[in-house]
Amino acid sequence: MSLLKPYYAGFIHLSRAAVKATAAKIRGAGLLRENVDWPRKAETCERCPLRVVQCGVSYCGKPFLQQIARDPVVDGCGCPTRAKAKDPKEHCPLTSDHLPAVRDNNSCNCKWCNGLNPLSIPSRT
Ligand code: SF4
Ligand SMILES: [Zn+2]
Repeated sequence: MSLLKPYYAGFIHLSRAAVKATAAKIRGAGLLRENVDWPRKAETCERCPLRVVQCGVSYCGKPFLQQIARDPVVDGCGCPTRAKAKDPKEHCPLTSDHLPAVRDNNSCNCKWCNGLNPLSIPSRT
């Protein structure tokens, strides 16, 4: 099993990325909730040193398929930033001081939430 562990972890990461990509497409069709304030979050990403632009699209770090094994705090998550910002479940992995963000049910100190309760940030269908 230990020999297979890296492959299993890679498979899990790929599966999550596929689920996120599918959700982003469904959200783009207006069938899933999106953050009302996603432009503010996406704008934060545009000023972030982790941002990578490829083919005119901003990503949180290198696009996921170019680096499957990654630490989101160091490498970013690899998601397109606009799609990530629209997903009410997503958070930035960093604080405004570029330290690892911490969140619980009542608050989040990531760059996007900055200490706000993530549940209080509105979303719309
Ligand atoms: S989600 Fe956070 S770390 Fe990723 S690009 Fe946006 S601001 Fe930077
Ligand atoms: Zn947050």
